[in-house]
Amino acid sequence: MTKSYDFDVLVIGAGPGGYHAAIRAAQLGLKTACVEREAVGGVCLNWGCIPTKALLHAGEMVHESKQAADFGLTFSGTSLNIGKLNGWKEGIVKKLTGGVSGLFKANKVTLLTGQASFVDDHTVKVGDQTHTAANIIIATGSEPATLPGITVDQQVIVDSTGALNVPDPIPGRMLCIGGGVIGFEFAHIYNNLGSDVKVIEFLPTVIPGADTDAVAAFRKSMEKQGIKVATQTKANRAEKKADGVHVELEDVKTGAKTVEVYDRVLVAIGRRPRTDGLNPEKAGVTVTDRGFIPADRKQRTNVPHIYAIGDVASNPMLAHKAMKEGLVAAEVIAGKPAEQDAVAIPGVVYTSPELAWVGLTEAEAKEKGYEVKTGNFPFAASGRAMTLQSTDGFVKMIVEKDTDLLLGVHIVGPHASDMLGEAGLALEMAATATDIALTIHAHPTLGESVLEAAEAVHKQAIHIVNR
Ligand SMILES: Cc1cc2nc3c(=O)[nH]c(=O)nc-3n(C[C@H](O)[C@H](O)[C@H](O)COP(=O)(O)OP(=O)(O)OC[C@H]3O[C@@H](n4cnc5c(N)ncnc54)[C@H](O)[C@@H]3O)c2cc1C
Repeated sequence: MTKSYDFDVLVIGAGPGGYHAAIRAAQLGLKTACVEREAVGGVCLNWGCIPTKALLHAGEMVHESKQAADFGLTFSGTSLNIGKLNGWKEGIVKKLTGGVSGLFKANKVTLLTGQASFVDDHTVKVGDQTHTAANIIIATGSEPATLPGITVDQQVIVDSTGALNVPDPIPGRMLCIGGGVIGFEFAHIYNNLGSDVKVIEFLPTVIPGADTDAVAAFRKSMEKQGIKVATQTKANRAEKKADGVHVELEDVKTGAKTVEVYDRVLVAIGRRPRTDGLNPEKAGVTVTDRGFIPADRKQRTNVPHIYAIGDVASNPMLAHKAMKEGLVAAEVIAGKPAEQDAVAIPGVVYTSPELAWVGLTEAEAKEKGYEVKTGNFPFAASGRAMTLQSTDGFVKMIVEKDTDLLLGVHIVGPHASDMLGEAGLALEMAATATDIALTIHAHPTLGESVLEAAEAVHKQAIHIVNR
């Protein structure tokens, strides 16, 4: 006898992972509900990817308006209305989150509003209602990690959510604690808007995990633009005083301590999976010491009809990974042969220049035992980059020496994130550097630099001297 449930699929969380899972499940004919306690669209649409990219664009326009003097365009009497800037950013968020709600309606996904908590492995409580489902997908996401000794008030000491609210006036002195993707994106925004910004990072390198050559070029460009960067430095405590936030910094190597004063401090030291109030233990679902709900390649937890996707399941905490995992979970439930089997998950820092990568770094490739060849093509030699006044950085391509098989592509440069699509497809299709070099790329485009990097692997790039 088969039991009957209210829903075939109940998704907890309407972030990128959750809404992808819900829409795909409904497309496949499953009766689907999605529970959200705060805002449809999750972190990415409301407090993450989208609002940061809006502010990055605005900051970039400020920067470009100054650069335009190089070709004789000068502006006088320009001003930035901070209220309008924040409102414009929020308008984009509203449009997109409204779009997701509209897609739920169009696909007949039932949106349940409230805090979801497990009652048992087929039952979830939302407010004072209980709902049963044959399958449950946990997509509760993540939240900012905190630092002892530094209390976030979302006014002068902020996490990424507070930093999205640009204050008027713009802070004079700003400290970003954490030299990861989020720390640098905000550093870049505020630097372009006029703050004097410093980034500190505990580790010896910023953007840990990215290719070291690319990171070096990225850091150089950020410093050239006025952002101060200190690695192997940690913040011990922060105290609000009349003249600003006094932050005690410590040199990790020597133990030397100094106090610096800032108008705004951003804590961006990472994110942790979020399961507060969910009670996964009532469903028998395993949660690791670090708070993750581990899942297999079909996104199944230890309880076979309960799935976990996105930030709550594993690193890297990226929207496109959550989206893919949402589709996999829904398709597996619908009986399709789906699996999370991506060759590589791209990573991007949306500064200008951007830092973007897909596949193995040179160090990772060597660690895995590959003998590698690399090819570099600098944007300084790209006609298109010159016309865009953005010549910092390069494309670095890593291939296996004997087979020419593509292993990784790392780009520091303008619109690097958009160039990454080609590299990702090439990796998925097991392309060689020769395949890329033989593909006609439009001229003049930034994408030609990917072709030239492939040629450089064979010491046959045309627009640079091959060494
Ligand atoms: C400042 C910032 C910038 C970012 N920029 C990028 C970027 O450019 N590109 C990128 O790929 N990634 C970016 N990210 C990361 C990206 O936002 C996350 O990887 C993505 O949102 C994860 O999606 P998710 O569906 O797993 O979870 P989330 O987006 O965190 O969504 C989870 C949802 O579940 C809800 N929820 C949680 N618990 C419950 C419960 N018990 N009951 C009901 N609802 C619940 C939450 O309210 C939330 O809406 C950024 C993150 C931040 C903070």
